Amino acid sequence: MLFATFNTVSPQLLHSAVSANGETIDVLIDADGLIATVGTELRSTASDAEQVNLSGRLLLPAPAEPHAHLDKAFLAEVIHNPTGDLIGAVEAMRANRHLLTVADTASRAERAARRMAANGFTAVRTHADLTLEHGLTSMEALLDVRKRLRDVIDIEIVALCGWPVAGTSGAEQRALLHNAMEMGADVVGGCPHLETVTGGTIADATGVLLDVADAYRRPVDLHTDETLDPTADGLACLVAHVFDGFDLPVTASHCVSLGQKSQVQQVAIAERVAEAGINVVVLPHTNLFLQGRGHTPMPRALTAVDALRTAGVNVSAGADNLQDPFNPLGRACPFETAGLMVLTSHLSPADAWSTVSVNASRTVRGDGVPHGLVAGACADLLSVPADNLRAAIADAPGDRWVWRGGHRHDTRVGPET
Ligand SMILES: [Zn+2]
Repeated sequence: MLFATFNTVSPQLLHSAVSANGETIDVLIDADGLIATVGTELRSTASDAEQVNLSGRLLLPAPAEPHAHLDKAFLAEVIHNPTGDLIGAVEAMRANRHLLTVADTASRAERAARRMAANGFTAVRTHADLTLEHGLTSMEALLDVRKRLRDVIDIEIVALCGWPVAGTSGAEQRALLHNAMEMGADVVGGCPHLETVTGGTIADATGVLLDVADAYRRPVDLHTDETLDPTADGLACLVAHVFDGFDLPVTASHCVSLGQKSQVQQVAIAERVAEAGINVVVLPHTNLFLQGRGHTPMPRALTAVDALRTAGVNVSAGADNLQDPFNPLGRACPFETAGLMVLTSHLSPADAWSTVSVNASRTVRGDGVPHGLVAGACADLLSVPADNLRAAIADAPGDRWVWRGGHRHDTRVGPET
């Protein structure tokens, strides 16, 4: 699916780096920007390559951000969320759409995407708001930013359809979604669990969105069951559609309600999700902020990460919102997200890094290519000074060397241009 085609690069030998599991490794990058070999003691066999000494540094598969809203980034001081929950954020956005122009949206989105690239991300999947009040403003802005930053970071755009989208009352919203797909959106998105707010059903909204995806032969990535209601069945709906023959890549983001079901239910659903090949994206920042207000005891509000991973589901993690009404915080930093996966989902540092790197890349770029620090994969790499991965996640070093398709840029985290 993605994207960038690179000119040839100088072959490079990255040597004496510490890997995620603590081994000392060398990595040879070929002239096509792919990883040719991962091993030890490669210096003698690759003497023609440019030598890059990574002694004292960690070398990791670069992070990919599987779920962002670049169009809403940095709105925290402009649009306030009066209740602090999901509906409060949605209503605040709706009431203030008139403040948002294409130019302003593009400016904030570019700032966010540049910060992501500086922090090590080589790709980002961003959702673009499509509501009747907002029209195609976000699409226009994000298409512009995608073009402008094509040499900086891969940007994939999900057309995030508003609601209702099904039935007679959804006609205008469906027309808007078709417009966005024709403009160049890569993926069909939406929020079937919010269809119920306007009297519709999750099943009807899911069916409509998948029909549109099928018409354009595009993947889907749906905000799925972003609610503590354990009866929400959006994930089960997606599974049913796959078994009914929907044959395009499917990603379910959030899946909060799954975390509220019994262990028996979680295991049963997770096995079906794995069998259907559906990617699940966990979004700890926003779920921790928005969900659970007024509940006693207050739930953690993440999906059933353990059951999904045990079943073999490709589980990735993203940061979702960046300093906007849905999450006032966030640094667009993969170590922040990985750290939250350690703390909220009890993953090891290595597993947490996989959720923001290899697994996220698989979600965004699809299954057709190798991912990570393996021969044949695109040389998307991140190196930081650290003795081990736990320390890197804890310290989030600002000194970051990033390779994107074998092209290297050095960066320090700081005010972005
Ligand atoms: Zn989202």
